[in-house]
Amino acid sequence: MTARPASGYKWRMKKALAVLLMVLAFGLGALALTFTAAKLPVPPLAETALPKAAPPAEMTLSALPTGAMHSRAAFAYRGGRWGEARDFGMTAVLVHHPRGDLLFDTGFGRDVDRQAQGSPWLVRALSKYSKGTPAADQLAAGGYDARRLAGVVLTHVHWDHVSGLPDLPGVPVWIDEAERDFTNSGASMSALARSFGALPYHVYRFEGGPYLGFPRSHDVWGDGSVVLVPAPGHTPGSIIAFIALPSGTRYALLGDLVWQMEGLEIPAERPWLSRTLVDADGGGARENIQRMAAIHARFPDMRLVPSHDAHATEKLARFPAVER
Ligand SMILES: [Zn+2]
Ligand SMILES: [Zn+2]
Repeated sequence: MTARPASGYKWRMKKALAVLLMVLAFGLGALALTFTAAKLPVPPLAETALPKAAPPAEMTLSALPTGAMHSRAAFAYRGGRWGEARDFGMTAVLVHHPRGDLLFDTGFGRDVDRQAQGSPWLVRALSKYSKGTPAADQLAAGGYDARRLAGVVLTHVHWDHVSGLPDLPGVPVWIDEAERDFTNSGASMSALARSFGALPYHVYRFEGGPYLGFPRSHDVWGDGSVVLVPAPGHTPGSIIAFIALPSGTRYALLGDLVWQMEGLEIPAERPWLSRTLVDADGGGARENIQRMAAIHARFPDMRLVPSHDAHATEKLARFPAVER
């Protein structure tokens, strides 16, 4: 009498297991598809010439690498390989200008070990990090008094870009209004910046007109040498900084618009999992990648610097050496 219910139970269990495995296989298949290559279309760019810039002769640019996260190309852009290890550099950029020196992002600061605990657990599970010398210590070692800085310009307020702010007390922190609101919003992705409390924030506006396909701009020193544009998506107030040096070389400091150059060269957005983990608005990020890819196609000599592309940042002169 007991045999029949037991076999019926077994059969039901087998069936449930088979359905579960099918669902799992389907889910994994669907997830795998989100990592496959998908090239974004590149819209035409109306501008045929670069905007005018008159950088002063003393102007320079230097990179300050502060460490790295170690991950996989697959997480950085659609079509990236699983088998390819990638270093995500953590690099601040110092732009010297006679009217005021600006540090773009901080990279890892002195307190990174404690701060890293606050990043999303899946990000921690999928990557490891290694420390270099914090930007403040590199500046000091190079005889540079950080109090000279007119500001730290944040490409956005994610923890790996603001980590070194406490090492630079009193230095104004430049953000736009949208990023200020994001910092104050209670979002987990801006928690570290918020934990620093009342910093000497300098909130700027994009009072200038269109710039290379971006709708608005902020010409910091009025000479076209440092122009900030809104590039929302990765965070609500993410920016791109266009820098012109006296040599005529142009740079675009991209923040986390893309994590690796392939994001613009293909161009390709981050895979779904990465977008879900880190992007406030994946669609906005995609639109700005396409905008920037159009600029890259029209002006291939412009040096593109994604914050975390170690190959791109290693090509920059390392502080105290300078690009002119
Ligand atoms: Zn970020
Ligand atoms: Zn970042």
